[in-house]
Amino acid sequence: MSDYQHLIQFVRDWYGSSGPISLHEPRFSARDSALVEDAIRSTFVSSVGAYVDRFEKELAAYVNARRAVVTVNGTAALQVALRLAGVRPGDEVLTQALTFVATANAIVYNQATPVFVDVDRDTLGLCPRALEAFLQEHAECATGGCINRKTGKRIAAIVPMHTFGHPCHVDKLVQLGRDWGIPVVEDAAEALGSTRGGRHCGTFGQMGVYSFNGNKIITSGGGGAIVSDDEKLGTRAKHITTTAKIPHRWEFVHDEIGYNFRMPNLNAALACAQLEKLETFLADKRALAEAYAAFFQECDWGTFVKEPAGCRSNYWLNAVIVNEPILRDQLLTATNNASVMTRPAWTLMCDLPIYAQCQCGDLTHSRWIVQRLVNLPSSARGIINA
Ligand SMILES: *Cc1c(COP(=O)(O)O)cnc(C)c1O
Repeated sequence: MSDYQHLIQFVRDWYGSSGPISLHEPRFSARDSALVEDAIRSTFVSSVGAYVDRFEKELAAYVNARRAVVTVNGTAALQVALRLAGVRPGDEVLTQALTFVATANAIVYNQATPVFVDVDRDTLGLCPRALEAFLQEHAECATGGCINRKTGKRIAAIVPMHTFGHPCHVDKLVQLGRDWGIPVVEDAAEALGSTRGGRHCGTFGQMGVYSFNGNKIITSGGGGAIVSDDEKLGTRAKHITTTAKIPHRWEFVHDEIGYNFRMPNLNAALACAQLEKLETFLADKRALAEAYAAFFQECDWGTFVKEPAGCRSNYWLNAVIVNEPILRDQLLTATNNASVMTRPAWTLMCDLPIYAQCQCGDLTHSRWIVQRLVNLPSSARGIINA
C-alpha cells in the first residue's frame, strides 16, 4: 500500500465506512427533531421565540460571557460586531491573510478595507509579532485613533481568526490592541469549545463571533452569534439586528437603520439541541485528533497539526502539514479519488482578485502553510441512542 492508502484506510476504519467520507458533516439525534418539532408546534418559527432566548442564555453561560446575541449567520454577526466596535466607512481593519473569505467580506460590508497580516506557524492564527511589526512600521497614533501613514486611513479594529478551531495568541493580540487603542473583534466562527488558558475563544476581545453553519462543530442550519462581556454592546447588538425597533405594544418606531439579522426560533431550537451534544462532539473529535497524531507519528511525509501549548482546541478541522509542497496535491488527489474528502487551506485573501489591491504585511508563514496544509475528515461519529 502507498503512504496515502494507509491514511485512507485509517479514515475508513475510524468511521467504519466504505462509502464517501466528507470533511465535516453534522450529526443529529431524535432530540434535534423533537425540539424543532416543538418550535413548529408553538407556531413561533421566526425571529422571536422561547428558543432564541434560551439559546442566547445557554450559549453565554457555556462560553462564560455576559451576553450572547444570535443572528442569521456568522458573517452577519461579524458585520454587526465590527460596526459596533466603531468601524466606519473609509476605515481599515487588520486581519489575517489566511482565513475564510467571510472575514474580509464582513469588513467590506462596513465599507472599510481589510489589511492582511501574517499568521503564526504554531496556531495558524494572526501572529502578534507580525501585527506589532506592521503597526510599528505603518501606524501613527493620536487622539481620534491610529492612522496608517501609507494610506492616511484610520485603523479601526483588529480581527484575529482561530483557524480550524486552534486558539490563536489572542491574549497577546488583545494586549497589543490595548497598547495601540484598537479594539479586537474575534472571528471565532470555527472555535466554539476551544479555550486558551481555560478561557473560551471569542471572549478575549471586545466582542467575539461564532457560526452555526452546517459544517461547523454544532449547527442551527444557518446561524451565528455575537458574544461580549459588555452589557451595552449586547443590548446594541440585539437592537440593530432587530431592525432597531423601539419596543412598544403597537407602534412601529425605528430609531436607526438596523438589520433583519435575527436567528429564527426554528433554527434556535436546533441550536439548543446541538449545544447539549457539544461536549460529546468535542470528546469524539479529540479522540480522532489523538488517533491522527499517533498515525502521523509513524509517518514520514507529514506532521499533524496539534493544539497550541496551553490550549484546548475543538479540533474542528484536523490538518496535516506535508513535508514538501509537491506532496500536497498528491495527497489531495489520492484521497479525493478514493472518495475520502480532503481540502487545501483557503487561497490567501490577497491572492483573490477581489482583494488583490489590499495592503499586506510580510506573509511568509501564510504562504508556507498554504503550500503544505491539507484538512482531513473531521466529523464527530454518529451518536448512538441519543
Ligand atoms: C464559517 C465562517 C464564517 C461565516 O459563518 P457563516 O455562518 O457561514 O456566515 C466566518 N469566518 C470564518 C473563519 C468561518 O469559518
